[in-house]
Amino acid sequence: MDFDWSPEEIAFREEVREFIRTEMTDAVKGSIFIDTPARVEFVTKMARRGWLGMGFPEQYGGSPNPFPLAQFILNAELDRSGAPIIGKNVGTIASTIYHVASEEMKMEFLPMIFRNEGQWAITYTEPNAGTDLGSLQCRAIDMGDHFEVTGMKHYITSAHFCRWHWMALRTDPDAPKHKGISIFIVDHDTPGLSLSPMSTIGREGTTHRTNQVFFDKMKIPRSRLVGEVNKGFYYMMEALDYERFAILSFASRVRRYTKIVNWYKNADFNGERPINDPYTRRALARMAARVEVGTMLERMAICKAQYEVPAVEAAMNKAWGATIGDEFAQLALDLMGPFGGLWGGEHSPFGGGLADEHLMAGHARVAAGGVDTSKAIIARRLLGLPNALGKPELPQR
Ligand SMILES: Cc1cc2nc3c(=O)[nH]c(=O)nc-3n(C[C@H](O)[C@H](O)[C@H](O)COP(=O)(O)OP(=O)(O)OC[C@H]3O[C@@H](n4cnc5c(N)ncnc54)[C@H](O)[C@@H]3O)c2cc1C
Repeated sequence: MDFDWSPEEIAFREEVREFIRTEMTDAVKGSIFIDTPARVEFVTKMARRGWLGMGFPEQYGGSPNPFPLAQFILNAELDRSGAPIIGKNVGTIASTIYHVASEEMKMEFLPMIFRNEGQWAITYTEPNAGTDLGSLQCRAIDMGDHFEVTGMKHYITSAHFCRWHWMALRTDPDAPKHKGISIFIVDHDTPGLSLSPMSTIGREGTTHRTNQVFFDKMKIPRSRLVGEVNKGFYYMMEALDYERFAILSFASRVRRYTKIVNWYKNADFNGERPINDPYTRRALARMAARVEVGTMLERMAICKAQYEVPAVEAAMNKAWGATIGDEFAQLALDLMGPFGGLWGGEHSPFGGGLADEHLMAGHARVAAGGVDTSKAIIARRLLGLPNALGKPELPQR
């Protein structure tokens, strides 16, 4: 693997940075979601430049010279600067459609995603099926030309401003649990679909609001079935492999670390300078090494993604990134004392960003299959350790 950036990649990154410098306004900043007219417009401007589809072939609205790394460079720069990101729509959903959907579905949805027409919700979780997505119960009953759905999902972020749901439903209740699930693309305006807000502990701009989504005899046309019926669990696993590195980039952690170091460099408590304290310096140096590891793990997943789905690399990236997020929060509380936990006011370090990190650390640990699942993937697929039934799985390489 070549970890160096090519001149083409460096040039594209510079172009993106220039765009962000010129186009990012206060109305755009502060959320990873494309959830307001200003944020939609900002992302649409990038779409008009052809940036959203740069990693995909031209016939789907992509590029005459597909450049797969472009989407990660773009997402990282957006994440680094606190702008809305394209990781979910492009990195997860478009990538999975491209790999598993029919030609007709690719032609319908990929150009739309690359033009930034309509946002997406990932609609998987149910009260008894979170980490263990194989336990999904919400049924889609096959009625011939359509499927009928009655039931509910919860924790569905983006559902209150999405146009489409990327939805997992049980299509065969009698099959072994992983073999009876299918994925559908569902129009949010479908009759029979309704919402109720769920608030979480984070604040606006984080995943403060998610949703319960209810279905009452909702009809999904058969043409909205993604790929093959009952293969949905495997498609979800593939989508999660992308999600573990393509939605959030490590760049935002680097940005946060840089801010922490700068805060220490400037902090002065009546002549006492924490940056001179050996314990503080050691803690910051240790974190610098860990941030560098995170950057490399992400780069490894991105490099691998150009050739195949990077399951193990994505799991390493996910487990490490979420762990580092926790450690930042802990560092803030340990070293900054009461200031570290402040969410606002003149004494809160960089606008309360570390309090956010602390509050959302739990989410990062469970989202996208989570840290525990990621470690299980590493244990089984990379190290060849036995699974719960005692059967070793051969490492993939
Ligand atoms: C803010 C927020 C936003 C979310 N957004 C979305 C969304 O947009 N779409 C969506 O579909 N879902 C979303 N989720 C749901 C999220 O994916 C689930 O919370 C997550 O999958 C965990 O499921 P659970 O809450 O049922 O916890 P559980 O599955 O009960 O897990 C609880 C704990 O047990 C651990 N655990 C569970 N099983 C195992 C195992 N086999 N081995 C080791 N450890 C295990 C988990 O890692 C976790 O720490 C969101 C959640 C939050 C908090």
